[in-house]
Amino acid sequence: MRHHTSTHIILGAARKVLGNHVWQAGAEKEVDRSRLDISHWTRITQDQTNKIEQLANEIVMANIEVDSSWVRRENAEEKYGYRIYQGGVVPGKQIRLIRIGEFDVEACGGTHVTNTKQVERVKIFSTKKIQDGCCNCPVKCSGKKKKSKNDKHILCKKITI
Ligand SMILES: [Zn+2]
Repeated sequence: MRHHTSTHIILGAARKVLGNHVWQAGAEKEVDRSRLDISHWTRITQDQTNKIEQLANEIVMANIEVDSSWVRRENAEEKYGYRIYQGGVVPGKQIRLIRIGEFDVEACGGTHVTNTKQVERVKIFSTKKIQDGCCNCPVKCSGKKKKSKNDKHILCKKITI
């Protein structure tokens, strides 16, 4: 659950840092880690990776409610546009929207945490260009407090899910 929610958060952060052209090109969500492929024309730099990770962790620590609701497809498309179909177009007149406050919204049938804080923290390991216009970002959630120059001020509280 944490990893699924973390991919939404990382994708939302990548769109804010790199631009709205960023689209989910593929994702693998496993229990202990997840991998996100995003569309971006060049290699993501270390600086951009740090920014995405920092923004994602700000969202995690901001304790934002993760809301899931069924809505009419037309209403969802009208309000949010086609960006809700990051994981591909989903069938049905009613679609399930996963909304992380004002930060990110996606049509998704997956299981999520109810609050971003439950993700604890996210770490992007490395990014690499896997083909033209597509970059791969392995992501891991962790409850452990790790020191890095970016997170001295972040206090992580272990929450068992
Ligand atoms: Zn999802």
